[in-house]
Parts: sequence; structure tokens; C-alpha cells
Amino acid sequence: MEYLAPTSIGEALRSLHQHRGSARVLAGGTSVLPVLNNTSAALAGGDKQSGSAPVLIDIKRLAELRSVTVLADGALVLGAAVTCQEASSHPAIQKSWQGLAEALAATGPAQIRSRATIGGKLCQAASTADAAAALMAIDACCRVVSVSGERLIPVSELILSPGRTCLRTDELLVSIELPAPRAGTADAYARVASRSSLGKTYAGVAVALTLKDDRIDSCRVALAAVTLVPALAERAASMLIGNRLEPDVLARFRRQIAGACRAGVDSQQTADHKAHVASELAISAARVAWQRSAGGGSEGSR
Ligand SMILES: Cc1cc2nc3c(=O)[nH]c(=O)nc-3n(C[C@H](O)[C@H](O)[C@H](O)COP(=O)(O)OP(=O)(O)OC[C@H]3O[C@@H](n4cnc5c(N)ncnc54)[C@H](O)[C@@H]3O)c2cc1C
Repeated sequence: MEYLAPTSIGEALRSLHQHRGSARVLAGGTSVLPVLNNTSAALAGGDKQSGSAPVLIDIKRLAELRSVTVLADGALVLGAAVTCQEASSHPAIQKSWQGLAEALAATGPAQIRSRATIGGKLCQAASTADAAAALMAIDACCRVVSVSGERLIPVSELILSPGRTCLRTDELLVSIELPAPRAGTADAYARVASRSSLGKTYAGVAVALTLKDDRIDSCRVALAAVTLVPALAERAASMLIGNRLEPDVLARFRRQIAGACRAGVDSQQTADHKAHVASELAISAARVAWQRSAGGGSEGSR
């Protein structure tokens, strides 16, 4: 196995291109290193064809990927190698995207959060990716680069299936771009941890909404750990738009959330329970987002 630690994005991209098929990006390593230790055959899947040893490309020395930049209009650029701990405690994220801060704080125990990166979280493409759901709710985008150019991919389109993203083997996720929140916008994340599986997320729901004239003007809802991969629940979100959080609205919202849950679990009992838990979490997150928005939303907190 070869280990490379490039010091510029250009160098990293050239290495990814040169070793495409056998290269593997190393960020925090909390997911990729256990795979490497336990199932080297799985890591070397691409190498069977190329016949070459796997090449680990460590991106932690890329300064651009380790920075958080707040733009003049309030948008934020989050480097892909920023750790979940750094991101969750960043003042701008705590002020303007409280739901995202909550989801990032759920990315495993403290030792894991201080290693695991936001880019690794997304590229791991796990069902339990709390931060992916929160980023989908706020309509964040991924900036992805390769030697042949760059593209902007909505987080909601990045993850295709468990363990699989739409990134090509020579592409690098460099940053996640959070759009400037509109006045009266707020987000919230509610989750329940599993009692087994080292406290991994059992069910999580992210809600971002904008209030106008005491009604919900726009809303996005995303689910974690109750669908095969984190996903938007667009029908559920549409139940809230134009409304207040009144009992009949919440009843329809609850039904749509339960219907959107496709947990990919063996037992129907677990699937039903997850759907029930997710619908309660969704109502809780919607109420918190409403309260935050009514309290001034992101504009009021700046
Ligand atoms: C005990 C435990 C409990 C956890 N609980 C939770 C939980 O409840 N909720 C939760 O959300 N997370 C949880 N996590 C964290 C999560 O499972 C991953 O371990 C972590 O998010 C991976 O981040 P990383 O930076 O370490 O990625 P790495 O292990 O370095 O990489 C992961 C994958 O992404 C690729 N990759 C990384 N960065 C990039 C990039 N910039 N461009 C392209 N590809 C890239 C790698 O090649 C690899 O395939 C838990 C982890 C542990 C160990």
C-alpha cells in the first residue's frame, strides 16, 4: 500500500487521476481505516483489475479543505476536511444553522467527532448520516473538483445508495456551500440514538423553514437512518407550506413522514417502529424550527 500526503489541491487531483481505480481519499479515517484494517480485500476491490496496490491520499494537509469562510452575503463555505467537532462549534454555524450544528454534534462520540470530517461523513454515504440530512434541509451544495474541471452538486443528489455517491473515482469533494439563509429562516434537527451500535443514530429528522406573515412560506425536510440513505421528504414538507403548525396540518405531516420511511431493515416491527419514531421527531423538529424562526430566525441571530 502507498500513502500520499499532498500539500496542494492540484497535487491531490493529479494523484487521484494517476491512481484512479486504486486511490482512496483519506480524511478523518474513522470509516476508511477500519475497512482497511479489517477487510483489505474490500478496499482493494478496484486493484484486482489494475493489479496495483491501493493508494491512500491523505487530504488533511490541504489548507483550503480545512477552512470555514463566511461570505459577505452570509453564505458559508465549509472545507470538506473540517472536522464535525470544529463545524458544530463554529460561531457562524451555531448562529445561522442551529439544526446543522445539532446534527454535526451527533456524529458519534467526542473522539470520533474530533477526527471525522464533514466531507468523509457525506462520502461515506451511510444511512445514519445526520449531517447529510441537515445539509439537505438547508439546500447545501458540494463543490467537487477533478483534473478535468469542477461541478456543484446539491447534497440531496450526492448519495446514490448505501456506500455509493455520484463522485467519479478521480473527483475530490473540496467544500460544502451553505446558501445565505433568508430572513425568518431557521432549521432544527431531532434524533434518537440506538441503544446498541455504539449510539449510532436510530432515526433523525431535519427541518428548515421560513416564516412569512405567521405562516410557513417554504420548508424542506430530510430524513436520516429511516431510509436506505439520507433523503428529502418533499411530500411531507409540502404539507407544512402555507400553513401554521395546527393539529390537522401536523396529522397530515406525521402520516407523510411515516410513509416516507423505508428503513431497509429485516423486521417489519422495526420498520414500523422507526416510522413512528421519525414522525414524532419530525413534529418536534418542525416545532423547534418554527420557534427559532418566530424568534427572528437566522436574521435575528446575526
Ligand atoms: C462508533 C462510531 C459511531 C458513530 N456514530 C455516528 C452517528 O450516529 N451519526 C453519524 O452521522 N456519524 C457517526 N459516526 C461517524 C461516521 O460513521 C464516519 O466514521 C465518519 O463520518 C467518516 O468521516 P471521516 O472523515 O473519518 O471519513 P474517512 O473514513 O476518512 O472517509 C470515509 C469515506 O469518504 C471518502 N472521502 C472522505 N473525504 C473525501 C473527500 N473530501 N472527497 C472524496 N471522498 C472522500 C473516503 O475515501 C472514504 O471512502 C460514527 C462513527 C463511529 C466510529
